[in-house]
Amino acid sequence: MNPCRNDNYNNQRRQSLNMMQISFIGLGAMGAPMAANLITAGYQVTVFDLNPTALQTMRERGAKIADCRHSAVAESDVIVSMLPSDAAVRDFYIGTDGVIPSLKHRPLIIDCSTISAETTKQVAAVAAGLSLPIVDAPVSGGPWGAASGTLSFMVGGDAESLDLAYPILKAMGNVIVHMGPAGSGQVAKFCNNMLAAVIMAASAEAIALGVRNGLDPSLLSDVIKNSSGGSFIINKWNPWPGVQEEAPSSNNYDGGFQLQLMLKDLNLALGNAEVTKSFTPLGSLCRNLYFLRSHESPESLYKDFSCVQTLFTPFPVRS
Ligand code: NAD
Repeated sequence: MNPCRNDNYNNQRRQSLNMMQISFIGLGAMGAPMAANLITAGYQVTVFDLNPTALQTMRERGAKIADCRHSAVAESDVIVSMLPSDAAVRDFYIGTDGVIPSLKHRPLIIDCSTISAETTKQVAAVAAGLSLPIVDAPVSGGPWGAASGTLSFMVGGDAESLDLAYPILKAMGNVIVHMGPAGSGQVAKFCNNMLAAVIMAASAEAIALGVRNGLDPSLLSDVIKNSSGGSFIINKWNPWPGVQEEAPSSNNYDGGFQLQLMLKDLNLALGNAEVTKSFTPLGSLCRNLYFLRSHESPESLYKDFSCVQTLFTPFPVRS
């Protein structure tokens, strides 16, 4: 099977799925805009969240509101979840009040949460025991990608389940890659984010060294862009304030990808490295660096992870 599909994939199936009931669980910074895109695509969407304000907002956007997790999924053909943690996903699907045992109508489950590969495999095994199709489909792209429907999905699960999930994922994103069996999407996600964490910290260190030597950070970044040290981070997410107007660093490190989420993803990567006996010294070093940075001020956890820059050259820049 071609892991990357094109837009013409099974339009007929897409049309019939448009009449299907989708339950969307978890309406935070990511889930709310993703659910809204499903409504825009024409799906009937029932939503559930522990937060009543999030529910009310989705009602105004055309969703049907469920008053508990079981009523949310009772008639759904597809369940999409976008939850914050392993504990929340485990609790929702396979906890003491988990929904999976009640899903006699065998809906498709698409879990887009970023969680450990181990929990994903546990949930998938319980689902498989009841012949429920299931994929893990964590995302890259952040709230902006969620709002614009341009998320990238890294999918784990069998090909048949991905076939069913494909049109729904396509309504929320534009890149869908099948990585392998259950849990593979999660592995791809934390590998990517660990690499982004390392490149960000390395870029911050290099720019700070150049500036300490009197170089202009914009000029240095331009040279790096066209040299062997270039990267997406240097091109689009420069950690030095003022180099790129649109980067979080130029907005007091607000917006972007929160340090607390990067720490979560580094913990997932390093937790997995322990289980699989993998060697991840740079990931470990970065976890320590970001952890240290998270203690710099009370609001640090909510700043973009490029704020790691200030560890290397606290502001104002030392002369
Ligand atoms: P968030 O904290 O903004 O939202 C999570 C939502 O889930 C909240 O509304 C919360 O009330 C709800 N919730 C928690 N437990 C629940 C339960 N048992 N039942 C129903 N609702 C429940 O989180 P987010 O930023 O939207 O992130 C969601 C997932 O996406 C996380 O796994 C995160 O790691 C991942 N992610 C986030 C980003 C980002 O930039 N925010 C980017 C990529 C991936």
